[in-house]
Amino acid sequence: MKLTNKALAEIYEDVKKRNPNEPEFHQAVIEVLESLEPVIEKHPEFIEKGIMARIVEPERIIKFRVPWVDDNGKVQVNRGFRIQFNSAIGPYKGGLRFHPSVYEGIIKFLGFEQIFKNSLTGLPIGGGKGGSDFDPHGKSDGEVMRFCQSFMTELCKYIGADVDVPAGDIGVGGREIGFMYGQYKRITGKYEGVLTGKGLTYGGSLARTEATGFGLCYFTEALLNDHKDSFKGKTVVISGSGNVAIYANQKATEYGAKVVAMSDSNGYIYDKKGIDLAYVKQLKEVERKRIKEYLVKHPEAEYHEGCRGIWTVKCDIALPCATQNEIDKESAEILVKNGCKCVCEGANMPSTPEAIEVFQGNGVFFGPAKAANAGGVATSALEMCQNSARYSWTFEEVDSKLKDIMENIYKNISAAAKEYGMDGNLVAGANIAGFMKVANAMMAQGLV
Ligand code: NDP
Repeated sequence: MKLTNKALAEIYEDVKKRNPNEPEFHQAVIEVLESLEPVIEKHPEFIEKGIMARIVEPERIIKFRVPWVDDNGKVQVNRGFRIQFNSAIGPYKGGLRFHPSVYEGIIKFLGFEQIFKNSLTGLPIGGGKGGSDFDPHGKSDGEVMRFCQSFMTELCKYIGADVDVPAGDIGVGGREIGFMYGQYKRITGKYEGVLTGKGLTYGGSLARTEATGFGLCYFTEALLNDHKDSFKGKTVVISGSGNVAIYANQKATEYGAKVVAMSDSNGYIYDKKGIDLAYVKQLKEVERKRIKEYLVKHPEAEYHEGCRGIWTVKCDIALPCATQNEIDKESAEILVKNGCKCVCEGANMPSTPEAIEVFQGNGVFFGPAKAANAGGVATSALEMCQNSARYSWTFEEVDSKLKDIMENIYKNISAAAKEYGMDGNLVAGANIAGFMKVANAMMAQGLV
């Protein structure tokens, strides 16, 4: 821990005491508190009025049983979570993650990050996150539907279009959102924008599917342009092969880059000619198969077991788009040694603190998740606008708003870093810029 401010150090100690055995949450908190030290020096009122002590404590934690019946007629029980972290600037907003690794600490770290990310979008959305330790892999459509219905039967008591608006995340895509939306409507009788990432026939927004990946590339291109560079002609490595990874690949390719590697939780593929994205989409979005099946159509490509090896592939730009802590110090050092000049995070907290130090210490342009992957939630907020207005915008309209938002995020966070004497440190810039708006709203709203 490098905190020098005594009040912040005490807050961090309290966080660890109150949330034992939740290392991901501690990691997310310490990063923000470290960045905020110069802010606290200038604004001691944030300590005096308890803003810092309150911002690290969720407004509400909802934890529930999710019983469902599998295809063999056996009762299964999972655990569901929704953490409504901070509503100072708008209704809670943030995705639902279905993955066996989900527990309270993961949802807390994601919900905490979401507060600042949502603030950076410039849109009126508070921070929340939820999910379950349910594993959708290998489950039939019927099993996924029964699970989603049971999950929503409980969750629907706590959410609403002006209260809390969940979306997708790992393991939750269009299919799961559809099942949950149907159940919400059936129980409450309300046809309202309570979830985002909906299908286009029932209130979804064009460009939402693409938004996080496209937004990541708009952000990365803005960062590169600011340093008189661009995606054009670059070799790119993207981890994951889910929603974020697929559309990051598409936009990076449109910008003139060549994506040579992608992965899933079993291993990674390397195709020196450039990944055949249409085939990856077919495998992952339609057939729900493993990435190693890529070799069926492209036997000349390579498949390697184990997903961490992807960071040994030589590249100019790395876009981690799979999961938290997927780049450790060693992987970061290999990336730097192989000449990687830019890392922007599509996944949430994919780089460990030690990896970030390696990047920043070696002059690698580093775009943190809070800023770089905010395009997904920003477009979700645009979906909420369209739902309230009972109207829909064209793909081009949504996409151009998304691009503006991502370019503004880049400008705002680099300006914040500069203002506080940390020019080029986008981690600090994102934490500071995201925090200021929420903190000022909390100050204005009194002790709540
Ligand atoms: P998906 O479920 O669509 O894809 C996740 C991908 O990451 C899959 O390829 C998956 O492989 C891989 N993966 C998941 N867990 C692990 C693991 N423990 N180790 C290695 N690989 C893993 O999720 P998304 O693309 O939606 O999300 C990816 C990341 O982006 C997450 O960190 C999420 O929080 C973040 N994010 C997503 C947003 C969105 O709009 N979807 C918005 C902002 C951030 P496998 O299939 O084998 O599990």
